[in-house]
Amino acid sequence: NKQIILKGYIEGAPKETDMELKLGKKMKLEAPKGSGAFLVKNLYLSCDPYMRARMRDFHGSYLPPFVPGSVVEGFGVSKVVDSDNPNFKPGDIVSGFTGWEEYSLIYKPEQLRKVQPDTIPLSYYIGLLGMPGFTAYVGYYEICAPKKNEYVFVSAASGAVGQLVGQLAKLHGCYVVGSAGTSQKVDLLKNKLGFDEAFNYKEEPDLDAALKRYFPQGIDIYFENVGGAMLEAVLLNMRVHGRVAICGMVSQHSMTDPQGIRNLFNLITKRVRMQGFLQSDFLHLYPKFLEDVGCLYKQGKITYLEDISEGLESGPSAFAGLFSGKNIGKQVVCVAHE
Ligand code: NDP
Repeated sequence: NKQIILKGYIEGAPKETDMELKLGKKMKLEAPKGSGAFLVKNLYLSCDPYMRARMRDFHGSYLPPFVPGSVVEGFGVSKVVDSDNPNFKPGDIVSGFTGWEEYSLIYKPEQLRKVQPDTIPLSYYIGLLGMPGFTAYVGYYEICAPKKNEYVFVSAASGAVGQLVGQLAKLHGCYVVGSAGTSQKVDLLKNKLGFDEAFNYKEEPDLDAALKRYFPQGIDIYFENVGGAMLEAVLLNMRVHGRVAICGMVSQHSMTDPQGIRNLFNLITKRVRMQGFLQSDFLHLYPKFLEDVGCLYKQGKITYLEDISEGLESGPSAFAGLFSGKNIGKQVVCVAHE
């Protein structure tokens, strides 16, 4: 059973060499009798920025740190191959928490849900119809309180979460601009994902001036994925009664001492509501999300970009790539094609 192990706690941006591929113990491909567990073959694994937070020795967050020397964990799509649990049978496809390894024994069935195979690609259950898609859905509808014709700005806009936020806002009748870190991503935002405008923030010497160019009338909604200088510039450009949904701050993840944010005074003068959220607080909305977003996809109203790297061994470099913007769309690792 090949596995990806975290070598030790890390500092700074994640590197490929922070993890290693190991040949785990030879295992019987069966679930132990009387355990209530089931054995899965992992098909697709998800690379998510939040996993960086589990790679340091800090216990105050909403998830415990990984244990150095142990298998990395994350969201995945897997196939049940043996089961001692009456609710899961061989052949079932499941998505949820699993290990970065070829086969995983699942002792906490509540951390996975069954996937009903249909025309939707299985890997979408860790992307468009998985945690990142759900984050976009609840972040946009529950936190941004959007209204038709509003001016919406999304950062890390071509990523797993951002690309769906922008498309939902367009379908909702808003004007949508996204920022991303390469001209290829900017092109995809404008020509494939239907954003009204997009720009490469790395080529803008003055982010405030760039935002004034794209939003001469100001921003009603900012969907925040990156933090730092971009948030400071947005705060100078919010409209009265605007909303800022703090989804993530990927530029701060690798800092031991994240920077303070300037320009907060504008929250008062413009009466802006800035709110952080965790998708896991909204799980009661998951069935409705699956129904709504699944339908939009089947009707051809939304599209979803994935960046699939082949083989379990590609996991560490695919994960590290999230922090330099190497991924174009949702970063997935394909471990096996069923
Ligand atoms: P992405 O697929 O967007 O990948 C990360 C992207 O972030 C990179 O491709 C890169 O794009 C951008 N990036 C990396 N480093 C920096 C930097 N220093 N400055 C600016 N941009 C950077 O990731 P996700 O869509 O999965 O996640 C987006 C955000 O949402 C993250 O902050 C994540 O932590 C957060 N999140 C929050 C959840 C919640 O419940 N609150 C749940 C899920 C995700 P580019 O080329 O554009 O720079």
